[in-house]
Amino acid sequence: MVTHDDAAGVPSDSHVGAARHGDNHADLPDVVRIVRDLVRFDTTNYGGGNARGEGPAAAYIAEFLRSQGLEPVIVGPEATPDAPARPSVVARWPGQDSTLPPLVLHGHTDVVPADASDWSVDPFAGVIRDGCLWGRGSVDMKNMLGLILANVQHFTEQGRRPRRDVILAFFADEEAGGSAGAAWLVLQHPELFAEARVALSEVGGYTITVGGRRAYLLQTGEKGHTWLRLRARGTAGHASAVNNDNPVTAIARAVSAIGAIEWPIELTETTRALVEGIRDLAGLPASTPPEDMVAAAGFAKPFLSATLRNTTTPTVINAGYMQNVIPASAEALVDVRPLPGQEEPVLARVREAVGPDVAIEIIEQGIGYESPFDGDFVQAIQQSIAQHDPEAVVLPYLLNAGTDNVSLTRLGITGYGFVPTRVPDDFDFPGSYHAVDERIPLSALLFGEQVLGDLLERY
Ligand SMILES: [Zn+2]
Repeated sequence: MVTHDDAAGVPSDSHVGAARHGDNHADLPDVVRIVRDLVRFDTTNYGGGNARGEGPAAAYIAEFLRSQGLEPVIVGPEATPDAPARPSVVARWPGQDSTLPPLVLHGHTDVVPADASDWSVDPFAGVIRDGCLWGRGSVDMKNMLGLILANVQHFTEQGRRPRRDVILAFFADEEAGGSAGAAWLVLQHPELFAEARVALSEVGGYTITVGGRRAYLLQTGEKGHTWLRLRARGTAGHASAVNNDNPVTAIARAVSAIGAIEWPIELTETTRALVEGIRDLAGLPASTPPEDMVAAAGFAKPFLSATLRNTTTPTVINAGYMQNVIPASAEALVDVRPLPGQEEPVLARVREAVGPDVAIEIIEQGIGYESPFDGDFVQAIQQSIAQHDPEAVVLPYLLNAGTDNVSLTRLGITGYGFVPTRVPDDFDFPGSYHAVDERIPLSALLFGEQVLGDLLERY
């Protein structure tokens, strides 16, 4: 959650000038205006195929790209030629050297729901206050869409080009797993991503403070997710009878056994580099346990702790319908988050804990991945940060959730998460995802546009 104090009416950003005052914001920087426009499209995704529709946002993006001389396509499932129900937008932005493999630069247009009664402002009004743009999607991730579009506009105006071709992709349906967005596109339209090797998107690029030094977290991998349904079957009957085949007690035992699994800390290539980086910045002894190392990472600690181990978390139990009736079956849902490459052993351990009498079904699975924290692209990111924030360092991290990068890995594309976002030390950026009063400092948008532009010319 966002924890810092809101001193209403106190302008805190010097970059926006007169934009602080009045309500028409006629002189907003382009990047701020674009993100605000996008926030004003309610693209709520409720999951389960129930989405408010990314259509108007997709149309805005496509029109924007056309106005800059690009030729976007709008594609999506349940499509008529003119109007896919869940539209994604893809365009190729020609670079200086089209012989280089293109970079995929992508983001999602949908957002998670926002209950306006919890918020200080209308979550879809694009309110600018206290040096921030407020609204659902301002952090996740219409900010990145704005950084991309503002760069397309400013490069075009200035006659500049990215070094290599850039495949711009604006996906629908990320928040519900992407089956109507990125996952659909890589299956149905892989040709749109032909020759690409590397992709850049969320979640990462924001600053944390470690040992008094500013560090940017570069997401170089993601844990997987395996969503399980456990089902116990037994003998239904009157609850007054002696019954040794009761599925309610069986499911309770299974859930309890999963809850008792203690997953050890296991460092991957990414998390080892992360804790070593934190150790150096914070001046901690080498013997410091990894969990204490990530505790030095401030607001990012809750996310980073979850990447040091597998997790297997029961979340739902459904059993029975009447006080005096033993049901025939009972079920539970378990959220499993394996470290990359550990899908099978984690599942085996769960099976062992549950025992043979409870069936396990995989409802949904996303495979984790790790990308190297070296190579041309990572170096280019480090150089771009060095150019714009010379005191800072870049640290790799593993995301404890999933993004559309997982879909692109199916095409052999290596994914990174880096939305360059410099925020004040007391700004809980990682706590802003999906949170009430989601907002982003305007200065972070201006900074991000500069760094992303630098990166596109450099890589
Ligand atoms: Zn997101």
